[in-house]
Amino acid sequence: MFDLKGRVALVTGGNGGIGLGFARGLAKAGAAVMIAGRNAEKNAAAVAELKALGAIAASAQMDVTDEASIRETVATTADRFGRLDILVNNAGTNIRRRPEEYRMEDWHTVLATNLTSGMIAAQAAYPWLKKHGVGRVINNGSMLSIFGLPFHAAYGASKGGVVQMTKSLAVAWAPDGITVNVILPGWIDTDLTKKARQDMATLNEDVLRRTPSKRWGDPKDFEGVAAFLASDSAAFITGVAIPVDGGFSVHG
Ligand code: NDP
Repeated sequence: MFDLKGRVALVTGGNGGIGLGFARGLAKAGAAVMIAGRNAEKNAAAVAELKALGAIAASAQMDVTDEASIRETVATTADRFGRLDILVNNAGTNIRRRPEEYRMEDWHTVLATNLTSGMIAAQAAYPWLKKHGVGRVINNGSMLSIFGLPFHAAYGASKGGVVQMTKSLAVAWAPDGITVNVILPGWIDTDLTKKARQDMATLNEDVLRRTPSKRWGDPKDFEGVAAFLASDSAAFITGVAIPVDGGFSVHG
C-alpha cells in the first residue's frame, strides 16, 4: 500500500534505535535510504541491515551539532541518489540534570542536537523536497514536549520546539506539496533509555505501570508510521503530532 519506490530518504541518527526503525520502514516500502550519524561502524552496520532487506542504502558520517556537516550530508544524499524526497530529523540526545544545576554548555548541546539541527536540515533539503512536489519531513519529538519532568528542562524545551517548528514549516511548505509532521514516541527501549534505566531504579516499573500497552516500545513500532507518512496516502496530513506510545499520553 505504501509504495516509496524511486523516492530517496535521509534519516539522521538512522544507525540505531528509533532512527533505524524509521529507516527500515522506508526501505521496506522501497525508498533508497541514506543513514547519517557520527559513528561510522554503526552507520555501516545499519546500511548492511537495510541491504539485507534488498534496499538501496548508503551512509554519511555527520554531526548534527555542526551546521556545515548537516548541509554537506544533505548535498551528498542528493548527489548520490539524484533526489531527496524524505527527510527524517531523528538524531537526538538527552543530558539529565535538575534545572538549578543545569550547565549552559549542556543546554546548548541538547538544543543544537534535538532542535536546531532539524531546522538546518529542513532548510538545506527544501529545494530538493519541493522539486517533485512530494516532499516529506518527519520530525522526531517526544511525550516530553507535553509533560514536564524535573531533570528534563533542556530536553523538553527542545522537543516542544520541534513540535512548534513542525507546525510552522507545515504551513509554509504545504503549497509546495511538502508535508511536515512530528512523531511523539512514548518510552522506547533504545540506548538512550537504557542509560536512564540504569540511573533510575524505578523507571522500568513506572513505565510499565503508566503505559496502557504494558510494554516498552520497540524501534519496530516506528516502521509503519514512517512508511505511511512518507507515502502518497498521507499527502493531505501535515502539521500534526502523532503519538506512538502504547497509550501513555491518553492514560487518565
Ligand atoms: P539512540 O541513542 O538509540 O539513537 C540516537 C541516534 O542519534 C543515534 O543514531 C546517534 O548516532 C544519533 N545522534 C546523536 N547525537 C548525534 C549528533 N550530534 N550527530 C549525529 N547523530 C547523532 O536513541 P533513540 O533511538 O531513543 O533516539 C532517537 C530519537 O528519538 C531522539 O530524537 C530521541 O529524543 C527520540 N525519542 C526517544 C525516546 C525513547 O524512549 N527512546 C522517547 C522520545 C523521543 P551516533 O551516536 O552515531 O551519532
